[in-house]
Amino acid sequence: MAEGLPALGWAARDASGHLSPYSFSRSVPKDDDVTIKVLFCGICHTDLHIIKNDWGNALYPIVPGHEIVGVVTSVGSGVSNFKAGDTVGVGYFLDSCRTCYSCSKGYENFCPTLTLTSNGVDGGGATTQGGFSDALVVNKDYVIRVPDGLPLAGAAPLLCAGVTVYSPMVEYGLNAPGKHLGVVGLGGLGHVAVKFGKAFGMTVTVISSSDRKRDEALGRLGADAFLVSSDPDQMKAAAGTMDGIIDTVSAGHPIVPLLDLLKPMGQMVVVGAPSKPLELPAFAIIGGGKRLAGSGTGSVAHCQAMLDFAGKHGITADVEVVKMDYVNTAIERLEKNDVRYRFVIDVAGSHLQGGAA
Ligand code: NAP
Ligand code: ZN
Ligand code: ZN
Repeated sequence: MAEGLPALGWAARDASGHLSPYSFSRSVPKDDDVTIKVLFCGICHTDLHIIKNDWGNALYPIVPGHEIVGVVTSVGSGVSNFKAGDTVGVGYFLDSCRTCYSCSKGYENFCPTLTLTSNGVDGGGATTQGGFSDALVVNKDYVIRVPDGLPLAGAAPLLCAGVTVYSPMVEYGLNAPGKHLGVVGLGGLGHVAVKFGKAFGMTVTVISSSDRKRDEALGRLGADAFLVSSDPDQMKAAAGTMDGIIDTVSAGHPIVPLLDLLKPMGQMVVVGAPSKPLELPAFAIIGGGKRLAGSGTGSVAHCQAMLDFAGKHGITADVEVVKMDYVNTAIERLEKNDVRYRFVIDVAGSHLQGGAA
């Protein structure tokens, strides 16, 4: 039997979430597979939830990472849409069943047997390992093309953070010039939601847990207004003004004060995934006919459209690029809300065996 591609990454072994070097094998590339050398990989808060087993679904050892940008090193004989040397991205999933209702409707991100890029189970029953590693083997239909000209480290977070906010904005019409969008939580997802909102021509208000990010939100990121969610006067003054809200908060938080910000028939979309349930009193949505939805990542088509849009408008994440030997410190800092606004690992520039590059 053919040997799989030897791979080297960093894995968490238990709920401490501590990462250290880990050798493993990638699957043997098939005719319709693309083999990718990983260049950069973002650190999403989902990686933190997973390695610390916040959601109770950890499959240790876990090589995290699903905000991947890399270069194609080889393609199978059945691949005509990519070739060696292409710059490509891989997001939260790398396969789906292709036959279920969601797959047939073009939102394969909701496929019940979605193969996640990391901490998932592939068709052969093996646990998947993500982009905190040197190489990946991915089916050609789940590889995204990175437009020329986008800086690659800043593009990597778009593969999850970007599409996760872009997809519901497009799906729910929260991409129309002149509409008022609220973005709750100014982290990895939130700051790219602000950038997309502004590029769509919207009025964007950031709703944050403290005053600390006010200047950057209104300055560099171009938001139009900034509210501190714990300040009842500020929240009251903005009540009933927003067409839509994207809630990216990673921890438990009250959503009734957020729903109060919506206009009648306004749409709130929850993308943040705290382990603690959100509380929803029925009257918070009955009065004003408010609408509440969730959304998970985005389809391959949305991801490609999002990256093409980002390429056209020069949108990338604001990143702090680090080497792999800094990853444990980066995760500690992410947990303390101490990053502006996304850590990205320079995987190709790191010494993955451990120690300095
Ligand atoms: P992040 O960079 O850590 O940002 C989360 C932001 O939430 C923080 O910057 C902070 O913003 C706010 N926040 C944190 N703790 C809070 C608290 N106790 N109360 C109120 N606000 C708080 O995380 P991320 O990578 O953007 O991910 C955000 C969430 O989305 C995570 O739960 C992640 O798992 C989830 N996610 C979901 C999907 C999906 O497909 N649905 C995809 C990716 C990520 P302020 O400082 O502005 O308050
Ligand atoms: Zn993510
Ligand atoms: Zn499916």
